[in-house]
Amino acid sequence: MSRSAHPAGPRHADVLPEGHYTAPPTDLNALDAKVWSRTVARNADGAVTVGGIEVARLAEEFGTPAYILDESDFRARCRAWAHAFGPDADVFYAGKAFLSRAVVRWLKEEGLNLDVCSGGELTCALDAGMPAERIAFHGNNKTVAEIERAVTVGVGRIVLDSFQEIARVAHVAQRLGKRQRVQIRVTVGVEAHTHEFIATAHEDQKFGIALAGGEAAEAVRRALALDGLELIGIHSHIGSQIFDMAGFEVSARRVVGLLAAVRDEHGVELPEIDLGGGLGIAYTSDDDPREPHEIAKALGDIVTRECEAAGLATPRISVEPGRAIVGPSAFTLYEVGTIKPLEGLRTYVSVDGGMSDNIRTALYDAEYSVALVSRASDAEPMLVRVVGKHCESGDIVVRDAFLPSDLAPGDLIAVPATGAYCRSMASNYNHALRPPVVAVRDGQARVIVRRETEEDLLRLDVG
Ligand SMILES: *Cc1c(COP(=O)(O)O)cnc(C)c1O
Repeated sequence: MSRSAHPAGPRHADVLPEGHYTAPPTDLNALDAKVWSRTVARNADGAVTVGGIEVARLAEEFGTPAYILDESDFRARCRAWAHAFGPDADVFYAGKAFLSRAVVRWLKEEGLNLDVCSGGELTCALDAGMPAERIAFHGNNKTVAEIERAVTVGVGRIVLDSFQEIARVAHVAQRLGKRQRVQIRVTVGVEAHTHEFIATAHEDQKFGIALAGGEAAEAVRRALALDGLELIGIHSHIGSQIFDMAGFEVSARRVVGLLAAVRDEHGVELPEIDLGGGLGIAYTSDDDPREPHEIAKALGDIVTRECEAAGLATPRISVEPGRAIVGPSAFTLYEVGTIKPLEGLRTYVSVDGGMSDNIRTALYDAEYSVALVSRASDAEPMLVRVVGKHCESGDIVVRDAFLPSDLAPGDLIAVPATGAYCRSMASNYNHALRPPVVAVRDGQARVIVRRETEEDLLRLDVG
């Protein structure tokens, strides 16, 4: 996405540097409902509240930085997805976006299924009581121990990612006297990211078995021939942060094409297709994500149409949103520590976290927005870069945004839409203590993942 630079900055010099920003918002106190979770609001005193609780109270009780997860928002998104897809489809929450035992219980209560991609995620899911048959196990290099465990507990499906894995899972299942339900993950030659998709040779990646050249057809041949496997369908996941449904359309068409080829060759109609996740969310006001019901309708229509054309019964569809459920449900609460104005450039605002709690900006050049949340302000906007406290110049949380120019050390600022791939990718860089996840609902706040302590760090360091 390219954006034009703001013509003239307030407070700063006439020429603003190149950057990913548009004009400053007309009202810095406004909270765009697109990027904030549902119960976030500003009260009469100008302080921001979530679930009815002032953020300053949360900071006092739980410290900063902290991830504040709006439980009612999370549950509402689960329900919206489940409702949009209805009883004839399955919604799998992608656990890698953010997983904890509380979250697993919410998913279970809201009727969702769960994707895991490691033994650790599987442990978390089972420990919190997710029924094994509602779990799908993913990954391009599952260990034999992980496969054994998944087959033993009876996960609903293992998504096979390679020829070796087809043989490996079949072998394990046979040895354990089981028949494992599996899907084959194919790469359909489509890669979608944000507002574009590329329908060329995107087989050049580590995941999946290529449709092109007949590899996927060969994988189906092998899976159907193995006693330990019950092949239930084909899986495709084309990217992340996708807004354009065209990529899904191409993917669905190609997956249905494979189903038709399988029927022609083997006389078997595979009953399921999984179209993956990757549905985009609003990180800034410039992003316009689709609603779950629009996505469900678009995908349903494509699959129905393609199946009719191929003379196939419509398979059961599953989708795997991760970010689209948990991303918008949380924000990161930081305290401002130091402020460094650079005349004619921008103002660096340092917070008490950084790349250890949000690596996405450094890793993917992700864009975020930010707001002053401990109070309202009528001061002029200033162009800021929100940075962390780590020993790295690339330790940036929000590359370009506007905050009120009366910002001061001790103010609380919050970065919205940090529910996905922030806590789950958090690190201990500089021996940082990973922040807690505080769940807020109906005036109640509770820690669901506690803050790390220095004792936690030393416990792993066995000398
Ligand atoms: C990561 C992943 C998802 C979830 O992606 P989001 O962008 O969080 O929706 C779904 N399915 C598979 C196979 C994935 O690897």
